[in-house]
Amino acid sequence: MKQIDSTNLGSRFELTQDECRNLLDIASKALKYTYPEPNNGYAVAVLTKHGNVYEGISYKSDTYTLTMHSEATALANAAIHGEKEVVAITGPNCHICKQLIYESSLNSGIDITVVIEEGGTVKQVPISELMPYPWPETKDR
Ligand SMILES: [Zn+2]
Repeated sequence: MKQIDSTNLGSRFELTQDECRNLLDIASKALKYTYPEPNNGYAVAVLTKHGNVYEGISYKSDTYTLTMHSEATALANAAIHGEKEVVAITGPNCHICKQLIYESSLNSGIDITVVIEEGGTVKQVPISELMPYPWPETKDR
């Protein structure tokens, strides 16, 4: 990964194709950990500024309201390991999780790159482009 520019949200990083494929592969393999049933839910992977990768899996609750999305558990997994500077996450992501990713960007000053595979092509989209009318606009409201 290398820093390529800055956006209004912060620093932006571009991953190599290998880093993207690795992240997508790790997310795919993490599907076996979905809760409570394996391979029945969602999984993502995040890449931190230190170069470490953390998986997240969906954790379903019978109440549904308490279900944790894989993006939330991945960001928490990184935070548990002392890493709050997330550079990239696999997608696509639901709109609730886009908000969570965006807020992580606000806190870290890194415009998180969302890595998406579409039709065999890997795309890297900054979260700022996926949030055209963000709330809050800045950390200091
Ligand atoms: Zn979600």
